[in-house]
Amino acid sequence: MLKHIWILFSDKESLWCKWIHSTFLKRENFWVVKKPTVCSWAWKKLLQLRTEFRLRFHWRMGNGITTSLWFDNWHPRGPLNLFFSDSLIYNSGLSRQARVADLFAEDGRAIRSVIESWGSPLPALTNALDRFCWREDSSGRFSVASAWELIRRKKDRVTWHGFIWNNAILPRYQLNLWLITKRRLPTQALLMSYGRIEAAYCPFCNDVPDSVNHLFFGCRVTSGVASFWAARCGIPWRNNPWEETIIWVSALLSGKDFHNCIARFSFGALCHIVWKNRNDILFRGAQISTSSMKMHLMKVVKDKACTFKNVEDSPRNRRLQRSWELDPAIFTV
Ligand SMILES: [Zn+2]
Repeated sequence: MLKHIWILFSDKESLWCKWIHSTFLKRENFWVVKKPTVCSWAWKKLLQLRTEFRLRFHWRMGNGITTSLWFDNWHPRGPLNLFFSDSLIYNSGLSRQARVADLFAEDGRAIRSVIESWGSPLPALTNALDRFCWREDSSGRFSVASAWELIRRKKDRVTWHGFIWNNAILPRYQLNLWLITKRRLPTQALLMSYGRIEAAYCPFCNDVPDSVNHLFFGCRVTSGVASFWAARCGIPWRNNPWEETIIWVSALLSGKDFHNCIARFSFGALCHIVWKNRNDILFRGAQISTSSMKMHLMKVVKDKACTFKNVEDSPRNRRLQRSWELDPAIFTV
């Protein structure tokens, strides 16, 4: 589908492109044309996709003759119609069909000065043709592989984003998960890469510098606590790099029911406890104790479960209640 957007702008001579222009677009621009009430499934889908992917396409200026001044993405700030309302466009002195080249005509003076007031230079036009580009490939040319990669990344991001910011997880756990996922947690590996520290070793195993992948949960010590967590939740533990782990738990624990809420909450707690313990050992001289980490985890999960009432009395919830030693009163009204 994205390829059709690409063809629409980059292959104006194709029959398909000509047909789309004469049937659906007439003189309107693809990025803003209204969705017709009756049209083919494919055209509807294409119009649905355009908002999401609009900024992934941009125009490199040549002579400015083929690029829509208002609706195509040629300015570093984005399409100008995001900054100019329909009435401003109407009163601007330039028509909705204006091209970038029209900016340099007499009528374009007002808009020219607005753009200059943004502190960004006006485009330098040349004799070359304008070029429609795809941002996801350095060549600027669209490829199905780069589109797939983009869609995959978006999907993954949406999956973990919803998981981390779900309100079953305490705000301080959410922040910790977010820092881990964005690689902002000040691990030894990160500080070494900035040259802030010279050498350091994971306080749990003393084998290698700690990093996100090591602490969560490549380290033999923390992976033991992680498998304890998984066993309590009744899910099979797999030791994977963090990117895979966060996508895995996001997909696995997405339901709204009691079991998923407790599993989500406890995963957030697990990561927070590991990071807190790591800091306590490094900076406060605390002893390494996996049993105290496990006990801490049990305690916060028990406290969390107390906030639930009238939990469905199913075998799955009963198993969870027993394995975390939760108060059976959760099943009563
Ligand atoms: Zn370690």
